[in-house]
Amino acid sequence: MNVRKWMKRMVILDLLMLGLLFLIHSREEAAHAALETAGRSAAYADLEVGGQDAAYADLEVGGQSAATGGDGTKRIALTFDDGPHPRYTEKLLDGLKERGVHATFFVTGANAEKYPEIVKRMQEEGHLIGNHTYHHVQLTAANGEQFRKEIISTNEAIREITGEDTEYIRPPYGAWNKRYEEELNMFPVLWTIDPRDWCSDDASCIVRNTIGRVKENDIILMHDQYQSSIAAALEIVDELQEEGYEFVTVDELLFD
Ligand SMILES: [Zn+2]
Repeated sequence: MNVRKWMKRMVILDLLMLGLLFLIHSREEAAHAALETAGRSAAYADLEVGGQDAAYADLEVGGQSAATGGDGTKRIALTFDDGPHPRYTEKLLDGLKERGVHATFFVTGANAEKYPEIVKRMQEEGHLIGNHTYHHVQLTAANGEQFRKEIISTNEAIREITGEDTEYIRPPYGAWNKRYEEELNMFPVLWTIDPRDWCSDDASCIVRNTIGRVKENDIILMHDQYQSSIAAALEIVDELQEEGYEFVTVDELLFD
């Protein structure tokens, strides 16, 4: 082999090696990037989806162990978020009282302080009052400390009115982190049926969305913020009571 040929072969080999090194390097980079992305989305998942899943798991276990009380009745829970509302909540309370139904109200601290007499009435009439943060704040990766304060100030607002501590929270949008459960002694309550009452002012549509899907131990999510929600909730009560359902508060559904 002459020198020129040999040199040429060496250059080709070098180029091949370089190419190989480049390939290995870029694959490593890609793998590294993938790890980082996965890590990041996993962290978010813990906060958002993870929180929800965990709470659902808790609910399912709780619901199962709570299945059909001793007398064989089918139980179900109505929950109302975001109140109290100065116009609609009392109408709802009137309707629930007429029907002998207890529900669960996840109030915001701000609204509870604005309408304490409505919160007091909820308590007097046997409803369960839960925490929905002070300003209706969604937990994100960045606002953990603010979220914690929102929970505490709402607990204080509720205690100021009712004289009792609440252990139940419905985190806005379902975003939750399990660390608050031990830290603040709060139990998250999500839902199993969301009739999306906020996006329809047609009560009969909300009723159909719910009745068609409902089963024992369901937790129905509604908002005492709209006339249509109040009308729908009372119609749901009437129809499901006829089917033999008993409406209970979420603590009874999950733990009794
Ligand atoms: Zn809400």
